[in-house]
Amino acid sequence: MDCNRCEGEAIMHAAYSGAHLCEHHFRESVEKRVRRRVRRDDLVPHDVTPDDPLTWVVGLSGGKDSVVLTRILHDTFAEDPRIELVGLTIHEGIEGYRDKSLEACVDLAEELDIRHEVVSYEEEFGIRMDDVVEDDPENMAACAYCGVFRRDLLSTYAEDLDADLLLTGHNLDDEAQTALMNFLEGDVAQMAKHFDASLGPLSERGDQEEFVPRAKPLRDVPEKEVALYAHVEDLPAHITECPHASEAYRGEIQQLLYDLEENHPGTRHSILSGYEELAGIVADDRAGESEDDGDGPDLRECAECGSTTTREVCRKCGLLESLA
Ligand code: SF4
Repeated sequence: MDCNRCEGEAIMHAAYSGAHLCEHHFRESVEKRVRRRVRRDDLVPHDVTPDDPLTWVVGLSGGKDSVVLTRILHDTFAEDPRIELVGLTIHEGIEGYRDKSLEACVDLAEELDIRHEVVSYEEEFGIRMDDVVEDDPENMAACAYCGVFRRDLLSTYAEDLDADLLLTGHNLDDEAQTALMNFLEGDVAQMAKHFDASLGPLSERGDQEEFVPRAKPLRDVPEKEVALYAHVEDLPAHITECPHASEAYRGEIQQLLYDLEENHPGTRHSILSGYEELAGIVADDRAGESEDDGDGPDLRECAECGSTTTREVCRKCGLLESLA
């Protein structure tokens, strides 16, 4: 089959758009979608100058998503003095898994000549995920602990690095899965939070200035296309799955979405665009309610670590206590 845009041989077919693309036009199409998302989300406001550049911290796990995102952002802004990229890798302490993907991160950072920071649960919290899984004092899935620790370190280090933006490599499939899970769980609060945390334009994020804003510029690109991009570009991405991956519910949703997409191409796109619209309405509504009440969510400092939380002791400190 020929490419729709030239006479080259197509290497992929996107059923949701009907496109057949050769290697060159496939690469171009992925890069275009990332750049368009950067523009639409206004990630580089027009008043940013080279004298006061933006620091963008990219959560770099060494998996295909974060590697592809880092590479495209680097290529887009390599000649732009207004943006400084920093890779941030979190080492969870998982035997035979993270060491390999850390190598991929180091290789990529060297190749692109960007600053790269590595932080570990062991150094920061005195724990390793392998031991957490064994002890399991809260009788929870591994990812329920790991997600809390990872979010905490990403936020803390993004702040320490004076980041203007924390970018993660969530792709279209990840985002459609999360949207569907929030729908099915009836989690309206999470929808509003999701909008604030990643989907809304920066200007709509109100008074959350104590948090480093987040962005997901890869969220218009399906997972298979991210994997194909990493392959054709020969990027040093690590593809082994974490041995503690245990989000069974997400797995079910993922399978459901595969089947829906197969039978009804474009389902992921429509879920996400409807979700974004709905999440924006919910976020606005919640912000309006808070203004009417004269107060927002009851935020305070964690009694243990001082981070911002709605509880006396934040979730991370609570988990660390039960693991001690
Ligand atoms: Fe952590 Fe779960 Fe990811 Fe493994 S799959 S690194 S346990 S969040």
